[in-house]
Amino acid sequence: MNIGSYSYDEYVHVVESFHGSLAPGLLIGGFIVDLALKKLPHGEFFDAICETEICLPDAVQLLTPCTIGNGWLRVLDFGRFAVTLYEKTGGEGVRVYLDMEKLNAWDEVNSWYWKLKKKPEQDYQLLLSQIREAGYGMLSVQRVRVEPEKLRREKLGASAVCPECGEAYPTKHGNRCRACQGESPYIEVTSTLL
Ligand code: ZN
Repeated sequence: MNIGSYSYDEYVHVVESFHGSLAPGLLIGGFIVDLALKKLPHGEFFDAICETEICLPDAVQLLTPCTIGNGWLRVLDFGRFAVTLYEKTGGEGVRVYLDMEKLNAWDEVNSWYWKLKKKPEQDYQLLLSQIREAGYGMLSVQRVRVEPEKLRREKLGASAVCPECGEAYPTKHGNRCRACQGESPYIEVTSTLL
């Protein structure tokens, strides 16, 4: 059993080092992305859509050339546990999702997903072994056609130097950068020497 180009155990290892912990969602995510890759016609350039911000984007980034940084992965905040891989120009693609009916057959995974048990009551080893045993068994596949225009990344446009912080920003954001318009997450900033 492989996940992308990894053996299952290698994938577990890579998840731990990349994600910081062995998240069950990323193990399921591995099967989701692997199945999508298998269903996608070979040798095509594809983009990815991930329908949740939690865990799944990391599975896409570990197993495909699609990343948030290169723009081939779009993350939609739908909160659905699903990944779509689609051909860049025509938009033909395959969508793989966690199927709630099939999930019922795996009680420990089901209660983890629906948070039916408190953490101490969870059997983590059983959870992991059920995920591994289930493999594609919790998933379903759909053929989809994506409207690529809808997902095209907005162009940055013209830039200027912000009069307040002195850093460059896109002028379409206004007469100063968004940070200086009050959106900065920093409550304190101190310049230091390199
Ligand atoms: Zn500024």
